[in-house]
Amino acid sequence: MRYAMAIDTLKCVGCCDCVVACQTENDVPIGYARDWIVERTDGTFPELTLEIRSERCNHCDNSPCVRSCPTGASHYSDGGIVLVTGNKCIGCGACIQSCPYDARYSHPEGYVDKCTFCIHRVRKGESPACVAVCPTKCMYFGDLDDPNSDVSKVIRTRKHKTLSPEAGTRPQIFYLV
Ligand code: SF4
Ligand code: SF4
Ligand code: SF4
Repeated sequence: MRYAMAIDTLKCVGCCDCVVACQTENDVPIGYARDWIVERTDGTFPELTLEIRSERCNHCDNSPCVRSCPTGASHYSDGGIVLVTGNKCIGCGACIQSCPYDARYSHPEGYVDKCTFCIHRVRKGESPACVAVCPTKCMYFGDLDDPNSDVSKVIRTRKHKTLSPEAGTRPQIFYLV
């Protein structure tokens, strides 16, 4: 099993419903975020293109955050999901420094936090909260090892990219372009 997400940059309207849903679902403290919106403009006027992306931890297959963690708090869980065990985290910040995507933050209670792919919902057979609320249905979540999962199907048929592939982290979030 390999959990992954595909996010359609052509359908995302940047409404931030995913950000609000995540904060509510996961009790993310005010002023912090596990996911965020990036708007990127390319080209020169009048040939401009705008890409809107909902970003979060990429649950990398080769994650420097897991390697750099001295206590084992950062680890791989079900289907490759990268998690932090709060009570094993000493808040040293090595993982924050090593993540090329700035996907982690220091929780005011003294441990490091980030996207969990809503593993508590996934284990119950539900979609991650951000995926469930998206009004344009631009996010697909599932098992890449299952050829019939939504994420496998959309990745097979659509052009896609990952963020900073040169970092060698093998991200498991695919942006449909
Ligand atoms: Fe770790 Fe950052 Fe990759 Fe998430 S995006 S698995 S925090 S290196
Ligand atoms: Fe590990 Fe916590 Fe240090 Fe991050 S801050 S490297 S999770 S002990
Ligand atoms: Fe937040 Fe869950 Fe979406 Fe990750 S998968 S960004 S934890 S709502």
